[in-house]
Amino acid sequence: MNIVILVTHTFRSRYNELFSGLTKDDTITVVSLLNEKHFDSMSNKRKLFLFTQIRDFSETLRAKGIIVNEVFSTPSNIIGKLFLENSYDQIRVERQFSYDELQENRVIETLAKKCNVNYREYTTQIFIDYKKYFSSIQEVPDTFTSFRKIVEKQNCYDVELPQREIPQCSCVDLNMDLSQEELGIEDEALLFTPIEQNAFEHLHNYIWKFEYIKTYKQTRNQMIGSNFSTRFSYLLNFGLLNVKEILHEINSYETKKISNSSTYWVKFELLWREYSKLISLKYGKLLFLEKGIMNKDIYSNYNKEFYDTFVEGNTGYSLVDAGIRELKTTGFMSNRARQNVASFFVKNLHLPWLMGAEFFEKYLLDYDPASNYLNWQYIAGCGTDSREFRYFNIAKQTKDYDPKHEFISYWVPEYKDSSYSKIVDFYESVDVAKKEQKLL
Ligand SMILES: Cc1cc2nc3c(=O)[nH]c(=O)nc-3n(C[C@H](O)[C@H](O)[C@H](O)COP(=O)(O)OP(=O)(O)OC[C@H]3O[C@@H](n4cnc5c(N)ncnc54)[C@H](O)[C@@H]3O)c2cc1C
Repeated sequence: MNIVILVTHTFRSRYNELFSGLTKDDTITVVSLLNEKHFDSMSNKRKLFLFTQIRDFSETLRAKGIIVNEVFSTPSNIIGKLFLENSYDQIRVERQFSYDELQENRVIETLAKKCNVNYREYTTQIFIDYKKYFSSIQEVPDTFTSFRKIVEKQNCYDVELPQREIPQCSCVDLNMDLSQEELGIEDEALLFTPIEQNAFEHLHNYIWKFEYIKTYKQTRNQMIGSNFSTRFSYLLNFGLLNVKEILHEINSYETKKISNSSTYWVKFELLWREYSKLISLKYGKLLFLEKGIMNKDIYSNYNKEFYDTFVEGNTGYSLVDAGIRELKTTGFMSNRARQNVASFFVKNLHLPWLMGAEFFEKYLLDYDPASNYLNWQYIAGCGTDSREFRYFNIAKQTKDYDPKHEFISYWVPEYKDSSYSKIVDFYESVDVAKKEQKLL
């Protein structure tokens, strides 16, 4: 068969479902896509991160005798072009979960139908097959706890691994390569070089060599350091590792070494990621709209000065500023910091949550539309589980999670200076948000 394989998020050679069941009689055209949509609004670091993993994917596959064609386009544009110029029996794409990507798949499916090409979607990004638990996507509950109870009852973490190696088959070389220079991406340091080998080593070190997983539940809320949480998000969102492989390793560690609340909690957090993607599939466009999936007005009062000061990491709230500066410098922010920063953005600065989500989108190297927008909605108060008015008390959070001010003093060395002043009064600004929210 003559098959075109479109890779948009799953840049790995191990356990890559897109390549399953191929035989040596098949001829494949592998297209690895750097999506041009939203590219211009990304930080240079994020562009470099994406480019590096796409390049590594090509090199890793080339070493296995598979040619990869690198393209800067949109999924439907490149596939439309290929269908015009060649004739294929089958097109393979990844199953998608967020609105834009879903729309792209629908266009490709229509094109395939027109051109008489067999259209196939492969689940490469998640481990839950919702159809096993729910009669339709609409039946996926709107609260995580209800969802978790249903899927855990049926041993959702016991997953089967797909075929590990990519089979040998003939490849079509379209002579398409991306150039860092032509894309205007500048060289700069990355804390983690996103290549498959590093991803695998990181998994191995985290679980087996240093056994950080054993204490994850106690360390996961820390804010400074590199091993207090798994850092799997980098590896998952562009598919350097298959989430099923991670689960498989955790299960194996639990059998051979120790099974405790920490090892379970990593799986629990990974389930949040699954849930985000399924909610994104269920609600589509609503994830990206101001009123969110609850269709609720959230109080905001855009103030340019506030926004600019926030983006500079100069609000005078050192825990918030430290998070922002870390994000802009490294492309990472801990979960605890993300919650604090997002809450401050909406509940104290009264800025529209969508602008905050876009700010994260620009800088987060682990950016994922479903996780990012759903978490922002949750904090803003228009997402799943958003009933009462919630906010994070920055002073209390500092006391609880950065008691020795290690995180703050690292990123905001001037935090004790008298010139370092607060942009708003904390309680007054929360009260305004509370009051306005009730009026709406
Ligand atoms: C406002 C906000 C925005 C966020 N944006 C993103 C984003 O764009 N991309 C992203 O991957 N995560 C996002 N998260 C979720 C979470 O903060 C990160 O997944 C986590 O901090 C990544 O570090 P880690 O891999 O060490 O996490 P760990 O604590 O080690 O968790 C293990 C894995 O579980 C998953 N996970 C953990 N927490 C969540 C969560 N709340 N929602 C969904 N999945 C979760 C991730 O895949 C993560 O890698 C966001 C959270 C908030 C509050």
